[in-house]
Amino acid sequence: MNDRRRQWLDAIAAAADEASLHEVESRLFGKKGEVLELVRAVATLPKEERPAAGKAANLCKQEVEQALAAKKDELQQQALQKELHDPSFDPTEPGPRPRRGSLHPITIVQNELIDLFTSMGFCWQDGPEVESEYFNFDALNIPGDHPARESQDTFWLNDRNLLRTHTSPVQVRTMQRFTRQGFQPPLKIIVPGRCFRAETVDKTHEHTFYQMEGLVVDEGVSTANLIHTMKTCLRVILQREVKVRLRPGFFPFVEPGFELDVNCPFCQGKGCSVCKQSGWIEILPCGMVHPNVLRQGGLDPEEYTGFAFGMGLQRVVMLRYGIDDIRTFMGGDLRFLRQFPEIAR
Ligand SMILES: [Zn+2]
Repeated sequence: MNDRRRQWLDAIAAAADEASLHEVESRLFGKKGEVLELVRAVATLPKEERPAAGKAANLCKQEVEQALAAKKDELQQQALQKELHDPSFDPTEPGPRPRRGSLHPITIVQNELIDLFTSMGFCWQDGPEVESEYFNFDALNIPGDHPARESQDTFWLNDRNLLRTHTSPVQVRTMQRFTRQGFQPPLKIIVPGRCFRAETVDKTHEHTFYQMEGLVVDEGVSTANLIHTMKTCLRVILQREVKVRLRPGFFPFVEPGFELDVNCPFCQGKGCSVCKQSGWIEILPCGMVHPNVLRQGGLDPEEYTGFAFGMGLQRVVMLRYGIDDIRTFMGGDLRFLRQFPEIAR
């Protein structure tokens, strides 16, 4: 064993640079490394020889390891000294700049929407992700026997609590707080946030998704105000002029309710596979706030009207950047995230 130990130490001492030392290291400590083989071989000896042989083998292994580490240090120091004395080396030159990372595209679009809506006088509200049955359904004109409950596959928790299926519960939460504190409309809020439904995940569905809820209540608010606000919002977010159209849509918390479509950005309305040849893309549900919802919020529907909308943020982000699979957002693939602009210093 002593001969081999001598050989190994000599090989380490003879390594002229880090590459050749690395070669020696993998020969000794690699998968079939000679030093490791020596330690393993102890197990094949007769039982009475094993303690002494084991101890010797381990000491030898330690010695070789230490020699290897010391040589590594030495070579690194040498390389550093060489570099420092290289006449072309400029120690005042700035080092490579670390990448600061980028915001997630959902966050980018959410921030832009918050900026836009607050510039139009909207106030940013937040609400709990674990919601009560009352705020998620009952207060929004969706009683227990209502078929609309069936269409939202809800994650139920204990005591009739649930993971909110939309950001709409914050409508009534805010109106109640607002009126309790003695305020009167106008009330203009946006509510960005995370929502959950027990959906089967595919190209266009996620169990966890992001919405931006909007609510405006005042005297004489009409569908024209809704259309204008939506057009402004979509123009800014999609960074182009947009056409919109309203189709009737049923949502219990609005009356009348609409599906708002935007002209297809991929074919400029001529018809393509993304818009299923229709020239239009369904983008968000909206409508005039149902009188029952205003009442739940403590407001008199004879006096006030309002509109509300619920924008799926993933859908808007997909349209803006031409992303065709919703699973990319949470896929954890850094190559996807690195395409977005680095955070400013
Ligand atoms: Zn199209």
